Amino acid sequence: MPARLVLATRNEHKVGELRAILAPLLPQLDPADIVGVSEFDIPEAVEDEVTFAGNALIKARSVAQATGLPAIADDSGICVDAMGGAPGVFSARWCGTHGEDEENLRLLLAQMADVPDRHRGAEFFCAAALVEPDGSETVCEGIMRGVLLREPRGEGGFGYDPIFQADGQSVSNAELTPSEKDAISHRGTAFRALAPAIAALPSLRGTSVSE
Ligand code: IMP
Repeated sequence: MPARLVLATRNEHKVGELRAILAPLLPQLDPADIVGVSEFDIPEAVEDEVTFAGNALIKARSVAQATGLPAIADDSGICVDAMGGAPGVFSARWCGTHGEDEENLRLLLAQMADVPDRHRGAEFFCAAALVEPDGSETVCEGIMRGVLLREPRGEGGFGYDPIFQADGQSVSNAELTPSEKDAISHRGTAFRALAPAIAALPSLRGTSVSE
């Protein structure tokens, strides 16, 4: 039986991003065995915590319990300095409707319209959680610092990527290639930190891609 790992997200963009980050770190696991939760018939967990780690654990716990497989989940968002860390855990539903990326971004730009460049610092934050079928839990975090732009730029990425420029970059996140973004992103950092715990899972130890 091949080792399988479930990504507790229904967002296909995220499944692709996480597979790309994890596959080179876990050569003993066939990328095809890193599966999204939509392959299972599981009700969506209510993310009612107010921290990224708390919400990541809610998602990973519910999927590990329902599938009996190790589950990994992330919770992430953008935190704007001048707004006291908002939208934070409310990033996906900042405009009032979950997942309306374009409206979320427009509202944030409007709220920050009068804020001068020197106060436009922001960061993306990610908590990555691993929950094992026996209940063991590991959480790692990652941050990408940068500034909020004044206009959307670029077609790549998702969410707030078009209005965020990471420190050390001259283009928005949406103008980076997927691998350029993974190398510096909050999600990349958090999952690279989590990879040793995933590699140590009993179901992965001693397996190889050819098994
Ligand atoms: P989650 O899917 O509950 O973690 O919600 C994350 C929300 O934060 C997304 O809907 C996006 O609005 C935002 N977000 C998180 N990571 C990124 C990123 O890498 N780029 C752009 N937006 C992001």
